[in-house]
Amino acid sequence: MTVGLVVVSHSRALGEAATALAGEMLHGAAAPIEVAAGLDDGGFGTDAVAISEAIARADQGDGVVVLMDMGSAVLSAELALEMVDDDVRERAVLCAAPLVEGLVVAAVSAAGGASAADVAAEATDALGAKTVHLAPEEPDRGEPAPEPSGAEQPGAPQGEEEHGVFTVRPAHGLHARPAALLVQALRGLDADVRLRNLTLDGPEVSGASLSKVATLGALQGHDVAVRARGDDAADAVRRLLDLADDAFGELDAPSARSAPPPVAAPATPGQPIPASPGIGIGPARAGGAAPVTVPAARPGTPAEQRGRLDDARARVREHLRGVRDRAAREIGDAEAAVFDAQLLLLDDPDVLADTGAHIDAGTDAARAWAEVLDEIEGTFDVAADEYLRARARDVRDVRDQVLRALGGVVERGAVPDGILVADDLTPAEAAALDPARTPAVVLAGGSPTAHAVILLRARGVPAVVGVGTALASRAGEAALLAVDGTSGEVVVDPDPSTLGAFRDRAAARDRRRDDALHRAHEPAATRDGTAVLVGANVGSAGDARAAVGADLAGLVRTEFCFLDRDSAPDVDEQEAAYRAIAEALDGRRVTLRTLDVGGDKPLDYLSMPREANPFLGVRGLRLALARPGLLADQLRAIVRVAHDHPVDVMFPMVTAVDELVAARRALDDAVEAVGRGRPAGLRVGIMVEVPAAALKAAAFAPLVDFLSIGTNDLTQYALAAERGNEELAALADALDPGVLALVAATVEGAARADHDVLVAVCGELAGDERAAALLIGLGVRELSVAPAAVATVKQAVREVDLGRARDLATAALACPDAPSVRALLG
Ligand code: PEP
Ligand code: MG
Repeated sequence: MTVGLVVVSHSRALGEAATALAGEMLHGAAAPIEVAAGLDDGGFGTDAVAISEAIARADQGDGVVVLMDMGSAVLSAELALEMVDDDVRERAVLCAAPLVEGLVVAAVSAAGGASAADVAAEATDALGAKTVHLAPEEPDRGEPAPEPSGAEQPGAPQGEEEHGVFTVRPAHGLHARPAALLVQALRGLDADVRLRNLTLDGPEVSGASLSKVATLGALQGHDVAVRARGDDAADAVRRLLDLADDAFGELDAPSARSAPPPVAAPATPGQPIPASPGIGIGPARAGGAAPVTVPAARPGTPAEQRGRLDDARARVREHLRGVRDRAAREIGDAEAAVFDAQLLLLDDPDVLADTGAHIDAGTDAARAWAEVLDEIEGTFDVAADEYLRARARDVRDVRDQVLRALGGVVERGAVPDGILVADDLTPAEAAALDPARTPAVVLAGGSPTAHAVILLRARGVPAVVGVGTALASRAGEAALLAVDGTSGEVVVDPDPSTLGAFRDRAAARDRRRDDALHRAHEPAATRDGTAVLVGANVGSAGDARAAVGADLAGLVRTEFCFLDRDSAPDVDEQEAAYRAIAEALDGRRVTLRTLDVGGDKPLDYLSMPREANPFLGVRGLRLALARPGLLADQLRAIVRVAHDHPVDVMFPMVTAVDELVAARRALDDAVEAVGRGRPAGLRVGIMVEVPAAALKAAAFAPLVDFLSIGTNDLTQYALAAERGNEELAALADALDPGVLALVAATVEGAARADHDVLVAVCGELAGDERAAALLIGLGVRELSVAPAAVATVKQAVREVDLGRARDLATAALACPDAPSVRALLG
């Protein structure tokens, strides 16, 4: 039996060297090895045709084992297998073994006459020896020394014990977000909960402390033991097991029992990725926040030191909450959650206890805080997982912010003027930088889907990521940089003609923006005179003031009134908040959406039951109807404001006509309760976010004045792709023809009403200038967008020709997928 081997690698040199190494191990025995590696021009890459030819050559009738390096090598090998004859394919095995170790073992095994299946199996086990050899060193990497299982720890819980074990499913283990969820889940329970990483046989740590949970080093697939005592011990264990079952909300996480997690690809040197559009020209500024030194000790009693620390933490808490709220408004709750983790760390009971102990021992507040946080940062720094190591930056962020507050230094944005060049950026740094003083960002690493980069996009800062350390270090020393975040170009010290070309491009963009701003207050109509309203999506009175040129506020996310508090705002408080927005809009219509929480956006004070599928649960109007008191208060506040300002009330997440009928009845009750008759300008609409609602638009239309399509939720429900899931970002594309068909169905259903029912879009798609013609062609007549996008979307509307837009819509509906639609938009 002679099994052939094929080596598939991006690098020809690597393929040949690995083959030579394997040959050395054969000591004269023979194993046919074919190499399909690199591209014809000598570059890196894999070629499916070359691989299929290599498989055919290696096959001598007894089968072929194919070993690959990574990424596209695997895809090319799969493709190559499709190309070979059926009988060859049946005898061939694509082997998951590591290339070098696997090839050596496979060569020896094949030369010994093993079958293809056995060769592949032995090769797959090839890492075993290395793993066993290196495993005992792990505790030396700074991880806490293992303690005997179940050892009684100081302060361990007393009373009846409850136990459980869960397997960590999120791809990056118990990283900041799941760890924060875990700690939050235990809050308010009368239970002392201890966790232990069984897989690493590590020590028990407190489940109440985010910093301690991080030290579990719990990676995907690790088993974690839960031990709880106290009156709510059973509840605590159940909550954690439910969370773990739910993969800590990261529902895409593969089963812990499946294949090991893919290793995140490192940023490829020299392969810049355009990450946030726009042009930036300016001097380079080395990135990151300026290092913070521990301020000089201030004398004082321990009580005074604690007081200073509490004050400093309070200032940082307020700052972080602001950053978190802005991130939630600008990019979404999932991204904002990273700041929740920082807030938890700021108030972490273990951190505070440790800091207090240092203070009691005579250390001043600043040094005590620095010492404790440095220690935590150190535990992240040596974590085995790259993602966890990256969290050390978040800890440093919190440490530095408190130290600045203690030293009296005002937080003034982490980044000085100029193009920021850095290895990577934390979300906090991205949120803190001032777009007016940062023409662009260039990162050696990073990824377009990283939280920090999403923030940069939301804030309009051009960015190129993944440029590699070589270019980043040259860029960091440049007198001048030219960056195009649309094409991914980064030019270090550009020559005059390159600089001229960048300036022309930037000028063209600026002109377009200036023209748009200049005409922002004019109504927008297509070339042939069809009026299209352009509104602003608003989450505060400040947003309303920023909505320059908006014809209305097409969506007021009233959640802003309800978050970050211990109880719901009363009618007076809500009235004041809505009135402030209406006043800022100075006579323009205000669309107040009733509270859209529930499911994934719980309100602590509502004590909602945990749901297996929160996005499919009691959220939006469903929740409001289940809490009639809450809805009644909100509607009363809205009605009061509607007596003085033009107000629309809009119900979110409507699925059934009955729900709308009930909501309208609640509105009638509120009108009666306010006692001043029905406000003249009060109109009623619903958000179309559920596919069924889009398809039943004709049933809703007689009962409303307008339908506003929330493409964010409509997309996730139509495509079964959760909106906050980075892994599904490419799938969850609002330009998918399936989503567009639902927009068309909504327009068609609205047209069947016996009165005018305007169809609006208030999801993110409305803010994409390139989509304006398409949406108008589909029949949408109002676009509600982020305040900063109002002017440019109006300008995009003015460039639309209705006839062409309709043709574009017809063509888009016939497309097979979102990229084809995008190609049509140009
Ligand atoms: C939407 O779903 O498109 C929408 C605008 O609502 P939100 O983003 O607030 O869920
Ligand atoms: Mg929505």
